[in-house]
Amino acid sequence: MHSPVLFIPTRAAGLTRLHTFVPRAGAEYMQNRNADLGPDARTNVSLLAPYLRHRLITEREVVSAVLARHSFSEAEKFVQEVLWRTYWKGWLEMRPAIWDRYLAERDTVRAGFRGATALARAENGTTGIEGFDDWARELVETGYLHNHARMWFASIWIFTLRLPWTLGADFFLRHLLDGDPASNTLSWRWVAGLQTVGKTYLATADNIARYTGGRFAPNGLAATAAPLTEAPIPAAMPLPAPIALGPDARALLLVTPEDFHPETVFAPDRRFAGAIVLADRGSGEEPVRAFVAAAAQDCATRMEAHFGCPARVIAAIDAETLAAAARDCHVATIATAYTPVGNIADSLRAAAPTLRSAGIDLVQVHRPWDARFWPNAKKGFFAFKEHIPRVLGERF
Ligand SMILES: Cc1cc2nc3c(=O)[nH]c(=O)nc-3n(C[C@H](O)[C@H](O)[C@H](O)COP(=O)(O)OP(=O)(O)OC[C@H]3O[C@@H](n4cnc5c(N)ncnc54)[C@H](O)[C@@H]3O)c2cc1C
Repeated sequence: MHSPVLFIPTRAAGLTRLHTFVPRAGAEYMQNRNADLGPDARTNVSLLAPYLRHRLITEREVVSAVLARHSFSEAEKFVQEVLWRTYWKGWLEMRPAIWDRYLAERDTVRAGFRGATALARAENGTTGIEGFDDWARELVETGYLHNHARMWFASIWIFTLRLPWTLGADFFLRHLLDGDPASNTLSWRWVAGLQTVGKTYLATADNIARYTGGRFAPNGLAATAAPLTEAPIPAAMPLPAPIALGPDARALLLVTPEDFHPETVFAPDRRFAGAIVLADRGSGEEPVRAFVAAAAQDCATRMEAHFGCPARVIAAIDAETLAAAARDCHVATIATAYTPVGNIADSLRAAAPTLRSAGIDLVQVHRPWDARFWPNAKKGFFAFKEHIPRVLGERF
């Protein structure tokens, strides 16, 4: 099975999947979502993550479609899961140093593990650990793993194989079609006992057997999971203040794989002088790159129709490419949906000084969903979720 079959990289395919799943998003999801019965039996979860991650479809459309069919209490579990994604994004946005810390530690550790057999066995799925090996291969072949399998896999990686968590997070980010700097890094940290400090997740053979319908019951798993330790988590920084793009500003639209739906970021009557669509998210092996590149092409076609401007796909967002695209359109402003902490924001930060000295303004416009929800992500998810019904009830 290969990813293009499971996940067609278009907005239309994401919407079709959403509408097929909506009837199952209530009580059925709540009862059955934790079971991982194998790659051919995935009707208990939505499989929407690759679409949501790149915002081929948005959290808002998913939650609205589900709540149009189910009451809030029926669909609460599913809505909360979608909001986990939002929560992780907001949490990391207020602590960007945790992303930098992950990258630095990954690079240091990776140098020491070059050519290491234990790492190669874990990534190739040849450790001899039942289930773990199957998930390693499933991830590489399909670009997807069930949430429970991700938790078991990360726990075995860290506590049984005793491999560095940053290399496991990197393996996921390179292969998951939904690989996301916030959800992935912070979930791995959570399993390791770094995120909820001191609280780890221990995978057990009984739990795996129960939720895989008896497919796997691995021997020899670690019986304890002592939390990893690190320097204290920095205090939450203020979120960047939302910036508006003046209604008359002539601008070039930059679309990135962080948000392939700028139609719902910018006003419907907004016109752009041109659009460029980035075809690389900065983390990913070939199947991920192919998914993102095809999604970018799909997006460019929509941009032409929606904003009535020429749109072209670009391979990288270095300062020279951006400045040349702005010059071609005779504008001094580049507008983009806000890029959250991650590889693309890092590239834009690197390009900023050159753009500034070329007299080009980069305006990052927040999506209302993020602007409303992120400020509530200062503490844990428990506190965050209390705000969900109120924020969903607001008009925005
Ligand atoms: C170690 C580890 C790494 C992970 N890495 C990623 C990642 O890189 N990208 C990613 O999107 N999710 C990640 N997750 C979260 C979760 O596993 C996936 O979002 C989910 O399995 C996607 O499958 P689905 O679309 O069928 O989910 P469903 O169960 O149908 O949920 C619907 C949507 O809610 C969101 N969601 C559900 N659970 C979570 C969660 N725990 N955290 C954040 N969002 C959630 C996703 O957008 C998902 O598409 C990770 C979890 C773990 C334990």
